[in-house]
Amino acid sequence: MQLTEELAKYFGYDRFRAGQEETIREVLNGRDVMLVMPTGAGKSICFQLTAVLLPGTTIVISPLIALMKDQVDALSEKGIPATFLNSTLDAYEMSERLEGIKQGRYKLVYVAPERFRNPRFTETLAALDVSLFTVDEAHCISQWGHDFRPDYLALGNVIRRLGGNVRVMAVTATATKAVREDIVRQLGLGVAPRGEPFVSVTGFARPNLYLHVTPCKTHAAKFARLVRVAEAYRCGIVYCATRKMVERVGTMLREDGYDPILYHGAMEDAERTRMQDRFISEEEPIVVATNAFGMGMDRPDIRFVVHWDIPGSVEAYYQEVGRGGRDGGFAWCELLFNFVDTKTQQFFIDSSNPDRTDVMHLWSVVKRECADHPVTRSADDWAAATGLSNGILARTILAMLERAGLVAREMEPGKRAYTTSLLPYTDENMKALERNCKAMTAKRESDQGKLDAIRHYAYSKGCRHQFLLNYFGERRAEGAACSMCDNCHPRQPVKPKEPTEAQWLEIQKALSCIARLGGRFGLNIAALSLHGDGHAEIAANRLDTLSTFGLLRDKTLLHIVNLLEALLNESCIRLTRGIPALAVLTPKGIRVMKRQYPGFRFNPPR
Ligand code: ADP
Repeated sequence: MQLTEELAKYFGYDRFRAGQEETIREVLNGRDVMLVMPTGAGKSICFQLTAVLLPGTTIVISPLIALMKDQVDALSEKGIPATFLNSTLDAYEMSERLEGIKQGRYKLVYVAPERFRNPRFTETLAALDVSLFTVDEAHCISQWGHDFRPDYLALGNVIRRLGGNVRVMAVTATATKAVREDIVRQLGLGVAPRGEPFVSVTGFARPNLYLHVTPCKTHAAKFARLVRVAEAYRCGIVYCATRKMVERVGTMLREDGYDPILYHGAMEDAERTRMQDRFISEEEPIVVATNAFGMGMDRPDIRFVVHWDIPGSVEAYYQEVGRGGRDGGFAWCELLFNFVDTKTQQFFIDSSNPDRTDVMHLWSVVKRECADHPVTRSADDWAAATGLSNGILARTILAMLERAGLVAREMEPGKRAYTTSLLPYTDENMKALERNCKAMTAKRESDQGKLDAIRHYAYSKGCRHQFLLNYFGERRAEGAACSMCDNCHPRQPVKPKEPTEAQWLEIQKALSCIARLGGRFGLNIAALSLHGDGHAEIAANRLDTLSTFGLLRDKTLLHIVNLLEALLNESCIRLTRGIPALAVLTPKGIRVMKRQYPGFRFNPPR
C-alpha cells in the first residue's frame, strides 16, 4: 500500500517523519508496537492513520481529558469519524455516544482509563470489532515512570479479554529501558498469537544542540561562564534548582547590566503573564527560571540553555535543553557542574519520598493532637513539632495521610497553614497508607537511579549525544561522527561580530535566495542554487530561471553552506520539522535582508 498517498489524503502532509511509516506498516501487518518518540514528533498520526486504514474501531486510551476533545475535533474536521468518552459528558450524551460506538459509527474512540470501571462501557466494548487498542502516555502504567496512574494497571486484563485479533500499540514520549520493559509486560505486548512486539524509539537525536559541561567550584566561576555564553548567544534560558537561586542569579545579571526575565512557580499570575509576554516579544530575552518554566513556552530561536544547577534526572535535563534550537539552528547547552549541587536534588528526593518510620511518626502525633479538635498549623510547624527534618517532608506526609482517607485538610485563605482534622478510619485506610509507603520506597529508588544517571552524564568522558541516546534507548545512525559536544569536539562560545560591507552583500544575496525559494526547499538546494549548480532538482523545478540563481557563483560551495548555517544560527532562517527540513525566512531574516535590523551581528563562515 502506498502509505504516503494515504497520509496526504487524510492528513494533507506530503511525507512521513522519521519512524512513522515503519510503525504504521508493522501495525497493519498485525504486530504489537511500542512507540517511543519525543513530544511533538508526531506519534498521534501513527495510530490515527492506522485506525483509518484498518477495518473496525480503534480504542485510544488517554489520561489527558483536556486533549481528547482537541484531538477528536481535529479528526472530525478532516472527515474522520471519532468521539470520546470521559467524565465531562452528561448521561444523555454518554448514552448517545455508546450507541454510536455500538453501531460502529466511529473509527476512533478516545477513552479515559477509569472508563473501564464502568460495566456499560465494558459490555459495549466486548461486542465491538476492535482492531487496534492504543495506549497513549503508556508510561503511566509503570511505577518506575514519573506519572504512575493505578487505573492503567487494569488495561492488561482489558486487552486479554479482547482476544487475539486485536493489535496493541503503546505510545509514550518518555520511557527508559526499565519503563519500556514494564509497559511490554503489563500490557502483554506480543503475547501469543501476535509474536514479538516491534519496539521503535526515534526522534530523540538533537544534533543541533552543542552539549558542554563545565566543572565550577564557585558561584563566581559559574557566573563568569554564564556571561560568556550569554554574550555569545544572547537569547536563552538559565535553569536554577530553586526559587532562591533564580533571584540570586537574576540579581547578579542585573548588576552586570542585563535585564533578565525571572520565572518560578510561586509567582503571582499577573507577574507570570507579564514575564511570558516579555519572553515572547523581546528580541533577545534571557530567562532565569526554575523548571516551572517550560510547557507552552516555545520560542523557536532559543540560542542557549545554561543549567546553573544540575537537574534531578536525564529526562528533565534533555527536556530543558530541548527548548533550545527548535528552529533547527544551533543552541549552546551548558551544564555548570558542582558536585555539591547534587545535594539540592538529594534533598528533593528525600523530602518527596518519606520513609515509613517518618510517616508513622507524624501519623501518631497527628492522631493524638487532632483527636479532640482540628489543628491549624503550617507544614514547617508540624515538622518542628515532630522533629522531622523539614516542612516539605511534613507536607508530603500530610498529603499521604489525606490520600489514605485518614485526615481532611483545608487551606487557610491567605496563609500557608492548613487546618487538619481527623477522619473516622478503618483497617482499609491503614492498609492504603501502608501501600502508599511501599510505593514511596520504590519511587525513592527510581528517583535515586535517575539522579545517579545525570551525575554520570556530568562526569562522562564519552560522546554526550551518544550518552543521551543510549539512555533513551535510541540507536544512533551508523557512522555519525559527533562535532557537537565538548568531549568529541571541544570549543568555546564565540562572540558574533558586525558584518563587513562585503559580508553584508553576501548575507543579502543568501537571504534573498531563501525568500525566492519560498519555503519549498532545504538548505542544500538553496546553497546549490546560490552557487549556480545544475542539480537535477534545480532543473526539474526550473530554479535556474530565478533571479537569485548563481548570485554567489564566485564563492566555494562550502563557504555558501557555512554562510547559510551562520544565518540559521542567527535566527534569520528557520527550518521546518519535516524530512527533508525546508528553509524559511524569519521576520528577523526579512529585516536583515533589507538591512533594517540595527546592530545585527553574526559569526562569519570560516
Ligand atoms: P506527539 O503526539 O508526538 O506529541 P503530534 O502527533 O501531536 O505529536 O504531532 C505534532 C505536530 O506535528 C502536529 O501538529 C502534527 O499535525 C504534525 N505532524 C505529525 N506528523 C507530521 C508529518 N508527517 N508531516 C507534517 N506534520 C506532521
